[in-house]
Amino acid sequence: MLKYVNYDIVFQEVPGEVTLAVNLSGCPNGCPGCHSPYLQQDVGQELTPAVLEGWLHRYAGEVTCVCFMGGDAAPQEVAALATGLRREGMPEIKTAWYSGRPSLPDGIDPGVFDFIKLGPYEERCGGLRSRTTNQRLYRVERAETERNTASSADGGSSEGTAFGAFRLRDITARFWRDR
Ligand code: SF4
Repeated sequence: MLKYVNYDIVFQEVPGEVTLAVNLSGCPNGCPGCHSPYLQQDVGQELTPAVLEGWLHRYAGEVTCVCFMGGDAAPQEVAALATGLRREGMPEIKTAWYSGRPSLPDGIDPGVFDFIKLGPYEERCGGLRSRTTNQRLYRVERAETERNTASSADGGSSEGTAFGAFRLRDITARFWRDR
């Protein structure tokens, strides 16, 4: 069961989006120097489609994206919630997943997300805003559009990692502008 501890509306976690960021507990990654140890605990309340829907109604017209912060103990449940948002007829709401895993878990369809962050937290490398970070933020694109976006306007890498019908385009550099 996915549990959330809290949520906030943030502006920097997903470039270009006003994001409802939901902090999920029960993190199994055990990163040395973890910036949020409380998220490793089994605490919080169950995150259900109804809870998400309630928040989106409350903040309708304000948020453009929902970001699941964590959930690595149950990636399929994160993917199911993201899929549900699309089924609820909210195509204007983008979905993002901040995972601490080094790579996309087997069986996860990247196409249910618009953005995916991968990589454990390594204190010596810093987070996404550090140029030395080991973490990466990807925008999920349909593979057939790749040829048309080789010179991505948002600074994304022209290289992408293919996952079936989708590619992950590395847009981490967007965090480093003006720094
Ligand atoms: S993924 Fe985040 S919450 Fe989990 S152990 Fe690493 S730093 Fe802590």
